[in-house]
Amino acid sequence: MNIAVVSAEVAPWSKTGGLGDVCGALPRALAALGERVLTIAPRYKAYPDAWDTGVRARIYLFGQTHEVGYFHAETDGVHHLFVDHPSFHRAGIYGDSYGAYGDNLFRFALLSRAAIEACTRVPLNGEPLGEDVIFHANDWHTGVLPLYLEALYRPAGRFSRAGTVLGIHNAGHQGTTAAHEFAGLDVSARWWPAADFDGRLNPLKCGATLARKIIAVSPNYAREITRDLGFGLEGIFSSRGRDLFGILNGVDDAWDPRTDKHLEQTYGIEDVAEGKRANKAALQRELGLPARPDVPMLGLVARLDHQKGVDLVQAAAPWLLRHDVQLVMLGSGSSALEGWFREAERTWPDKVRGWVGFNERLAHRIEAGADIFLMPSRFEPCGLNQMYSMRYGTVPVVHATGGLVDTVETFDPLEDRGTGWAFPTFSVEGLVEAMGWALYTFRGHKDAWRGIQRRGMERDFSWDRSARLYRDAYEASRP
Ligand code: ADP
Repeated sequence: MNIAVVSAEVAPWSKTGGLGDVCGALPRALAALGERVLTIAPRYKAYPDAWDTGVRARIYLFGQTHEVGYFHAETDGVHHLFVDHPSFHRAGIYGDSYGAYGDNLFRFALLSRAAIEACTRVPLNGEPLGEDVIFHANDWHTGVLPLYLEALYRPAGRFSRAGTVLGIHNAGHQGTTAAHEFAGLDVSARWWPAADFDGRLNPLKCGATLARKIIAVSPNYAREITRDLGFGLEGIFSSRGRDLFGILNGVDDAWDPRTDKHLEQTYGIEDVAEGKRANKAALQRELGLPARPDVPMLGLVARLDHQKGVDLVQAAAPWLLRHDVQLVMLGSGSSALEGWFREAERTWPDKVRGWVGFNERLAHRIEAGADIFLMPSRFEPCGLNQMYSMRYGTVPVVHATGGLVDTVETFDPLEDRGTGWAFPTFSVEGLVEAMGWALYTFRGHKDAWRGIQRRGMERDFSWDRSARLYRDAYEASRP
C-alpha cells in the first residue's frame, strides 16, 4: 500500500504536541509492516538531513501562482518530503506572540495541494508514490485535501482509486475563517456547502464531510465527538456513522523503563519495586524533597492549558496536602497556573515542587519516580502520559474522558482487576474521592497495589498494534 501522511507537524522536524508525535511514529510502524510510506509537511526551516529534490510545482491559489519546492529525507524506511515556500519560513508553526497567522488557510491549502502534486511528480529513490495512494490528512490544517481531490482531480479522471482519511487529534481547533476566503481556494462555489459552518469557512468540517473515512485518536473520543465534544461538529461526525473509527495512539520506544536513558536506574516488571525506589530517591534528592521511600509521591506533567484540568489539582491541593504525600508537578502555559506552582512550593515547602518549563528529562524521571500520576483532563482525545505511567508502574488517577476511558480501568478490589482510577464527574469531589481510594490502597494494600502496577505494565500500547488497525481503515477508504 502507498500511504501519504500529510500534516502540519511531523516529529522530530516539527512538533507542538501529539499531532507531531503521531505523524512521526505511525509512519515508522507502517513501514515496519512493509508499507510504502511518505510523510509530507512544510519545510519551516532548513533541516540538515533533508535535501532539495530539484522538483518544483506551480500551484494556483488565492489569485496567484505559487512555486513550491520539495526537500527529501529518508529515515527508518520512511520517506519524508518537506514542502518549501516562503510562507512557511516563520518563527512559529501556526502563529507568534500576536496570535495565529492571518494567512493560515492559504499556507495549509498550499501544503495540501503540494502534497497531492508530490505523489506524481517527486521521485522517491526512483519512482514517485503514484496515484494509487491513501491520503491521510490530519486535523483542520489539511482538511481541504479531500476537497481538492474531489473537486479538482477526480473529475479529471485522476486519483480515481486514491483513498482519503482524516485524522482527528483535537476537534477543538477547526481553523474557522471568513467565508470570502473560500474564493481563494480555487474550487467551484458548488463545493461551498461542505465547508460552510454558520456562514463561515470551516476546514475541519470540510475534511469531516469529504474524507472517505475519519479516524479519531481513541475509540471513546470517536464517540464523544458525535455527542458533546465535537465543538459544534457533533452532527457532522454522527452523520458519518460507519465511516468514523477510533484508534488509540501508540507509545514511542523512548518511553520504556527498561531502556530509558533519562532514568537513575532502568527497570522492568520483575524489578519494578527496586527500580521505582531508586528513581524516587533520585527525584527527591534532585528536587530537595525529604528523602523518604515510604511517602506516596504524586506526579503531574502537562501543558498548563484549560483542557488539562490542572485547576482541579489546585482546588484539591489543600485536601491532598493535609495527607502525608509529596507532589511533583512539571508544566508550562497559563501564567495563573505557573504562578500557582510557585505559590504551592512556598506554602508546602517540604511537600510540593512545581517546575515551570518544558523539560524532557524531568518528565521521564517523574514518570519513573512517582507512585501515582494525576491526569484530570476536562477532555482528552487520546492522552499519552497515562499510558507512559502504566508502562512505568505509576498508577494513573484520571478523569474518565476521551482516551483516558479506553486506557485506564478503575481498580476493582473484589475482582482484583483494573489499572488505576478514572473518576466519572469532572469535579474536585471526583478527584478527591479517587485520590482517597488510591492513597488508601497504596498505604494499606500493598499486594493489591502491585497487581495494579503489574496489569498496567502488561498492557500493549505498541504502535505496531495501532498501525495494523490504521492499515485496515486505509484499505476501507478507497472509492
Ligand atoms: P497533549 O498532546 O494534549 O499535550 P499528551 O498527553 O497526548 O497531551 O502528550 C503530552 C506530551 O508532552 C507528553 O509526551 C508529555 O510528557 C509532554 N509534556 C507536556 N508538558 C511537558 C513539559 N512541561 N515538559 C516536558 N514534557 C512535557
